[in-house]
Amino acid sequence: MAALHPQIAENHEQIRERIAAACGRSGRTPGTVKLVPVVKYAPLDWVRSLVELGVRDLGESRPQQLLERADLLPSDIRWHLVGHLQRNKARKVLPRTTLIHSVDTFRLLSTLDRLAGEMALRPRVLLQVNVAGERTKHGFAVSELREEWSAVLGCRNVDLHGLMAMAPYGETAEEARPVFRRLRELRDELADRSPFPLPELSMGMSNDFEVAVEEGATLVRIGSRLFSGLSAESD
Ligand SMILES: *Cc1c(COP(=O)(O)O)cnc(C)c1O
Repeated sequence: MAALHPQIAENHEQIRERIAAACGRSGRTPGTVKLVPVVKYAPLDWVRSLVELGVRDLGESRPQQLLERADLLPSDIRWHLVGHLQRNKARKVLPRTTLIHSVDTFRLLSTLDRLAGEMALRPRVLLQVNVAGERTKHGFAVSELREEWSAVLGCRNVDLHGLMAMAPYGETAEEARPVFRRLRELRDELADRSPFPLPELSMGMSNDFEVAVEEGATLVRIGSRLFSGLSAESD
């Protein structure tokens, strides 16, 4: 049994309430937004606390850490990969993830498509979009995604569920709003050109998740706010 961290339970509850409030403001049902705790900086003990609370969706940004922790934690955890995936790690990661949020190039998508065929898997993926066109950020450029859309649709072994984006670093939640809105509009546009819906929008982190929910996020990826008030040394 893990030592329970009351602070984590409190933070978790508060985040859920704030998601529900943001849903209320925008006429959405709270059940349409899933909280994905991103545990990349959390010691294992804190992660176990979340699991004790009944959390079953967990996000990691590094494939290696995801694989290590998947071995240590209950097998019914649904692991989300939210960070960059190198193609040579893809074979190991595919069977362990419920959703890859961060497919950031057509090359990676093709690799996943080929591996999925070989491994008889049907991985669920999101395409990461560099909405603000930042040089330092991974992801498809908006124009590139529009141009390559028919090739994307040709990757039939992957289950394409939607799009993911991050707001530019250091922006306030309100400054991030146009980024989230553009991702939603891009999703709507691409869904119109697809034979299947693209229901998921993975957007919003600790500092901007409420605005992301108001703009249509279905998955919010939250790390630091879940663990605020804790210090890693006490672990
Ligand atoms: C770390 C990380 C998060 C969580 O960020 P916080 O600001 O700590 O909530 C979300 N998404 C991705 C891709 C991340 O790497």
